[in-house]
Amino acid sequence: MIDMHSHCFPLISQAEAQAVDAQRAPWLEIEPGGARGMIRVGDRPFRPVEPSLWDPAVRLAEMDAQGVQQQVVCATPVMFGYGWAATVAADWAERMNEHVLAFCRADPQRLHALAQVPLQSLEHACREARRARDAGCVGVQIGNHVGERDLDDEALVEFLVFCAHERIPVLVHPWDMMGGGRMKKWMLPWLVSMPAETQLGMMSLILSGALERIPESLKICFAHGGGSFAWLLGRADNAWHHRDIVRQDCPNLPSSYARRFHVDSAVFDERALALLVDVMGADRVMLGSDYPFPLGEQRIGSLVREAGFLEDAQRRGILQDNARAFFGL
Ligand SMILES: [Zn+2]
Repeated sequence: MIDMHSHCFPLISQAEAQAVDAQRAPWLEIEPGGARGMIRVGDRPFRPVEPSLWDPAVRLAEMDAQGVQQQVVCATPVMFGYGWAATVAADWAERMNEHVLAFCRADPQRLHALAQVPLQSLEHACREARRARDAGCVGVQIGNHVGERDLDDEALVEFLVFCAHERIPVLVHPWDMMGGGRMKKWMLPWLVSMPAETQLGMMSLILSGALERIPESLKICFAHGGGSFAWLLGRADNAWHHRDIVRQDCPNLPSSYARRFHVDSAVFDERALALLVDVMGADRVMLGSDYPFPLGEQRIGSLVREAGFLEDAQRRGILQDNARAFFGL
């Protein structure tokens, strides 16, 4: 199995974070003994975490136990730094990418790094994407928005055009979720807003007509099965037929663009996976677990392995071949 959606968080000290932004830079506090840690943002606790997040030896042992041969590893989105001045974020991204590359050097045959980029600046983002690719990253991970700018933003579209020309695969990860003021409890931002963020990113690319300008060679994958996208694509098609403001920038039926996207398989329900494979195509779904977080698939690949509706070739594609082709592993 190749798991194409997993995260790490480097051993960033409080001093290292404070030197960048004492309020907003994330760092890792590890308990004495090293059995547990806490990601902090400034002084605030952000998320309790375990050693598989920062220790590649622990990760490789867990991969062995799970039967995962290869894993694509990317930053935890709290590391993005999109709110900083471009030069600060560019320097930070380069350091984070070197951390992730060092993590993956524990076994370069099995661990593959995605880069983060300072997406608030087109120039700096392109420069870091190219530098990181040349340094060994197999693609980039970007957030689905930069503040108020969604994926239809001119500069973000230009970045995707750049990635298409440079043959750099892109993973889009939802983050910085909408509606936070009304969703303080029960992890509602992760359960309700996060799938909507992903759908917003995909719809922004479709309805703006950006996919008419972005080369078809762009390899772009959306996390968590594309969030709400597949489930509600029919709603977008219906709106396109019956409201001219939905058609004004989008010359073709929204569902006709679904073939431009890849998604991961993190949907946790065989019925949802069946719809996803039907809408996106079995060759466009890739095993992605969101390891090692609690909201990820705990028995990696079990949903795909046990899905009765999949033919053997489809299952093999989702479990490994599609990701191998997407990232060129
Ligand atoms: Zn994730």
